[in-house]
Amino acid sequence: MTNKNINKFIALFIAILFLTVSLLAIAFICKHANHDCSGQGCVVCEQLDFANNICKKIAMALASTLSVCLSFFFISSIQSSIMSNLGLPSLVTLKVRMNH
Ligand SMILES: [Zn+2]
Repeated sequence: MTNKNINKFIALFIAILFLTVSLLAIAFICKHANHDCSGQGCVVCEQLDFANNICKKIAMALASTLSVCLSFFFISSIQSSIMSNLGLPSLVTLKVRMNH
């Protein structure tokens, strides 16, 4: 296995792990949402809070990743349109070879 394949495998494993943890947390919350609460110090309520915090953290991580990706895409599209509209030379328009 090459280094690239190992990185892809680790990324896929982490993605599957995130998805599994979030789905199990959601399933736990749905199953125990209407439990017979014993009041203060209820173990099920503590577990529900824990699962709720996991879901919030995963959602925050996904939202921040999505915002970084969207901002990168937006900035790169603006930069390429500005470069093409101003007629500024780029390495591609100058046909510069980078393989020397
Ligand atoms: Zn409870």
